[in-house]
Amino acid sequence: MEVKQKTGVAILGSTGSIGTQTLEVLEKHPDRFTVEVLTAGRNAKLLKEQALKFKPNAVVIADESQYEELKDALWDLGVKVYLGEEALCQVVEMDEVDIVLTALVGFAGLKPTIAAINAGKHIALANKETLVVAGELVTKLASEKGVNIYPVDSEHSAIFQCLAGEFHNPIEKIYLTASGGPFRGRKADELKDIKKEQALKHPNWEMGAKITIDSASLMNKGLEVIEAKWLFNLKNEQIDVIVHPESIIHSIVQFEDGSMKAQMGLPDMKLPIQYALGYPERLKSDFPRFSFKDFRTLNFEDPDLVTFRNLGLAFEALETGGNMPCILNAANEIAVAKFLKDEIGFLEMSDLVENAMRSVNFIQNPTLQDYFDTDAATRAHSEIFV
Ligand code: NDP
Repeated sequence: MEVKQKTGVAILGSTGSIGTQTLEVLEKHPDRFTVEVLTAGRNAKLLKEQALKFKPNAVVIADESQYEELKDALWDLGVKVYLGEEALCQVVEMDEVDIVLTALVGFAGLKPTIAAINAGKHIALANKETLVVAGELVTKLASEKGVNIYPVDSEHSAIFQCLAGEFHNPIEKIYLTASGGPFRGRKADELKDIKKEQALKHPNWEMGAKITIDSASLMNKGLEVIEAKWLFNLKNEQIDVIVHPESIIHSIVQFEDGSMKAQMGLPDMKLPIQYALGYPERLKSDFPRFSFKDFRTLNFEDPDLVTFRNLGLAFEALETGGNMPCILNAANEIAVAKFLKDEIGFLEMSDLVENAMRSVNFIQNPTLQDYFDTDAATRAHSEIFV
């Protein structure tokens, strides 16, 4: 039997910030990886360019209005072109796919990730919302199917890297580092008139719009706390957040002997993407190197939970459990969308999320269907928030 030499990669959300950086990584390692699946929401132009360049087995577009044109454009190349959410769930099952990098935004990532796990495909997980919404169910399913979930989020990749060779040594605590975003140090009265253009300017990272707003409001760190619980099987009280404005230390693990391990480097998502895809190997890279000359001092401070209420709400959702993180996530997706449409202010995003957490039906032991129902109910509730 022929032994497969290369890893077949499906990228869900290949036209986004993580998706395009993943393709940059794969392009540098043609001897290690093949690009099997690319997908986009609406950006058919970029998807087409990517398909012409990487010649995947299949592409999927969510936007129906662009499907026929894309199909015609890729016909000669022999690239299969599919439409919609169901197709997303089917392409990840293809034999040629070994690992699925999930870089969709929000709740949309849940279904295809579950489909990929059911099909026995390993997951490189960027779409943190999947674990926020249904972490218990997804990690249990992955363990039943013998599927590994490799973190792509830089903080979780850092923890994963710190745990290499330590798998039998219990974690005492982890510290997730947070840059603090563009509004670190500001108080609520300075934030009420913030415009989206200001919130979309992250000091250290270039990312998609949703996660950039989440970073400014500290909801991103809250989502990461919940993600970390499920990825590393932690108790809630084992997870702490420390603000580190330089984003050089990506996170820290403290072991039971008191020793702490941190992973550091310049903020560049290509490194955690490559580590997730190449694991357990560290593939050679030409990414810019850190220099101590550029960073004489690294700073650390406590997060301001009074001003940035989202982080506290996320800790509360984690503590409450059940479908509460799903409510938090869905409300936050609506809040961010409304903020980006100038319908609500920066601080009102937290009001909207809190309102949903106090209003939407709580379920202690949700099924998968309960998560879908909770997501829909929370969106309906939050859409009419003014
Ligand atoms: P982007 O908005 O840049 O990209 C999202 C991708 O998903 C695009 O390809 C988009 O298509 C596609 N997409 C969005 N919605 C849908 C949908 N409903 N159906 C099908 N496709 C869809 O996001 P990011 O790359 O910034 O983030 C992706 C995920 O990774 C998020 O969960 C984020 O939290 C996480 N993450 C991101 C980091 C970063 O540095 N960007 C760092 C760590 C985690 P189209 O382009 O056509 O709209």
